[in-house]
Amino acid sequence: MIVKDAICSFCGCLCDDINVEVEENKVKSVKHACRLGSSKILGHGRISSPMVRKGRELKEASYQEAYDRAAEILMDAQKPLLYGWASTVCEAQKKGILLAEEVGGVLDSTATVCHGPSVIGIEEKGLPGATLGQVKNRADTIVFWGCNPAEAHPRHSLRYSSNACGRFTPDGRSGRKIIVVDVRETRTAKNADKLVIIQPGTDYEIISALRMLVAGKSDTVPDEVGGIPKAELVSLVEMLKAAKFGAVFFGLGITHSRGRYKNIDNALSLVADLNSYTKFVITPMRGHYNVGGIGQVLAWSSGYPMSVDFTRQAPYFNPGETSACDLLAKADTDAALIIAADPASNFPRPIVEMLAKIPVIQIDPYENPTTLLAEVVIPSAIAGVEVEGTAYRMDGLALRMRKLVDSGYPSDEEILAGILESVRRKRCSISHEGA
Ligand code: SF4
Repeated sequence: MIVKDAICSFCGCLCDDINVEVEENKVKSVKHACRLGSSKILGHGRISSPMVRKGRELKEASYQEAYDRAAEILMDAQKPLLYGWASTVCEAQKKGILLAEEVGGVLDSTATVCHGPSVIGIEEKGLPGATLGQVKNRADTIVFWGCNPAEAHPRHSLRYSSNACGRFTPDGRSGRKIIVVDVRETRTAKNADKLVIIQPGTDYEIISALRMLVAGKSDTVPDEVGGIPKAELVSLVEMLKAAKFGAVFFGLGITHSRGRYKNIDNALSLVADLNSYTKFVITPMRGHYNVGGIGQVLAWSSGYPMSVDFTRQAPYFNPGETSACDLLAKADTDAALIIAADPASNFPRPIVEMLAKIPVIQIDPYENPTTLLAEVVIPSAIAGVEVEGTAYRMDGLALRMRKLVDSGYPSDEEILAGILESVRRKRCSISHEGA
């Protein structure tokens, strides 16, 4: 059987033109996906059964034993951290928020270490955005700032941006101007008409200079900014103003350089300024396929898009205080549930050392370095391959992913429901004992 137009659940492009050959409930081949997507859909080494640490070793356990131990850990903690959520579907994220409320924890997503500054910048300034379809069909000038889709989002260029042919862009790449701004020559830069190599950490200054030039205040711009001569900045602004429809895509090169969310605030303002001359839009290059989804689900449930503290009577949000790394750095959390993420590989080493000091519950289809730290390991079905559900593409478009094959593993949502049920049962029996 061929499943046509399936969605790839790897990166924020959520390509929806994937053909998957399924035979005897196994994925046999994958067509149209890039190597990253194919490898995810074809699957690889899975955690075979739930495990609970006894002494120094992880021992096989039943799902119920694992749920009960996870419930115990969360209930014993003063301020548990529930972290990850970017590579699972919105239905599981919703259940996770209920669990965080029930146990009085802090729920944070991987955005905190990637596009968190974008989320804050967008909250402050608003997003002059567009769908990827609009970019494909209309954009004649595209800027990639601090991102490298050729390696991180391999089909972005072909489906949505530089090389895509659209309704009003029939000539694809030859009808577009591509500008890359980065601190080095990336693979994306090799496809650029204009490459601007800036000094690291000078994004804010350069954006400010561009805004001055867009506003016609050339006299306020010095002869060189961030290693770029003024004449080159002037020619860049001319290219931007000449666009009929311009699109900026930005990545971690700007969100995590000096200035952080203020860089994003400034970039959003530049795009707003350009709209006095022509149509311009801006989109963050979200990494994990549903990191946008957890922001949406958290925002509609609590009012905040990440780093939400449910330990008080009302949700509380203060990144820098309630974000995962800050909680761990200050030893302000005493247990962690990690789902669909691998902080042991991605957090700074001193933070991973703090994580290793507290009990960790891991929910994931795959073993990864976080498994080595875990007290409880609960294997799950692969969302988007073995479980259907909703995910948000990098442009904020919600897409429904189908199940491609059946799985013997429970979904993330079912696992979280099992833990929640165990928490409520334990709470009930404690209150009966007290009565
Ligand atoms: Fe999957 Fe992203 Fe590759 Fe598209 S670009 S096939 S969503 S990994």
